[in-house]
Amino acid sequence: MAVVAGIDLGGTAINYTFLDGEERWLIDGLCEHPARSKEGPDICLRQIVGGLDIAAARAGISVKDVVLAGLDTPGPASNAGVLSVRGSTNFVHPDWAGFDIRDGLSRRLGKPVTYLNDGNAGALWGHFTLFGAGRPATSISAIIGTGLGGGVIVDGNVVKGRKGFGGELGHVLIPYQSIEFTRGIVPHCNCGRIGDLESMCSLTAIGRTLLPYFLTKYPGHELASLDTVQAAKRVRGLAERGDPMSRDIFRAQAHALGLFFDEIVNAFDPDALIVGGGAIETSADFQHWFVDEIRAGMPSQRQEQADIPIHIMPNGDTAGARGAAIEALKLARDGGLI
Ligand SMILES: [Zn+2]
Repeated sequence: MAVVAGIDLGGTAINYTFLDGEERWLIDGLCEHPARSKEGPDICLRQIVGGLDIAAARAGISVKDVVLAGLDTPGPASNAGVLSVRGSTNFVHPDWAGFDIRDGLSRRLGKPVTYLNDGNAGALWGHFTLFGAGRPATSISAIIGTGLGGGVIVDGNVVKGRKGFGGELGHVLIPYQSIEFTRGIVPHCNCGRIGDLESMCSLTAIGRTLLPYFLTKYPGHELASLDTVQAAKRVRGLAERGDPMSRDIFRAQAHALGLFFDEIVNAFDPDALIVGGGAIETSADFQHWFVDEIRAGMPSQRQEQADIPIHIMPNGDTAGARGAAIEALKLARDGGLI
């Protein structure tokens, strides 16, 4: 049998999945193996290959059945999978600087490997859940976590960009000054910009900007006495339970995302907008409230575009591996391997 593999290399774990030519997943849920990226490319790649054997056995196949593997990792990396020469949070070992991780894995496996960054892989998974792998639809995914990631899929293809920065949605500037109830806010992003999407819509934004701002409006709030980083992590739970200040913080994030989605609707006229990430790993009720707030934050749309669907992305933990496998399936089909 011919299958493709999806391999998601995260900070602490490698996650595997397999997909056949009929678009059936051969592993349900998570198949995890410890990641050893801190120890450099040699040990890390050996670990990935060893884990693939274990995952294949669990899926009831042989690694020989894998015709092509899809790999995704956190960036920054080129669109061909060459990691940044400046290193990054997940690839601190000096041997990673400028390392071609796609080619390195391909040599070890003796198979072709395709590469996506983790944001684009997650976006491709979200897209697949709505449209499958064959239909040439267009979707934009925003994934709200510590930062803001995501991706742009145009006619079924991931927009990787010239240098691998396609889909870096977090650093797109938005007209945040138009959000009435956060008037006077100055949202700084880690990238140095003021007022990009991540500076208003991420866990980092809560700790750095939104929580300090709203605590001045809710004196005596229970989060005021906590360290900001710890307090920021508690905002989602409190918002879900209806705490007014925490709801305001999530409303501000939703309206920021609404402004961004308005820009993207006018740029791409997409088939769907998709929201995912830790921020909305919540009850369905809260997710619906959040989506309604995103819509409320969007400037009024043309009549033809007012019904643009906004979906919630399922299965956060497996999104990277599954997106990587879907990209691999596309290449395997193009190359007649499956
Ligand atoms: Zn930024």
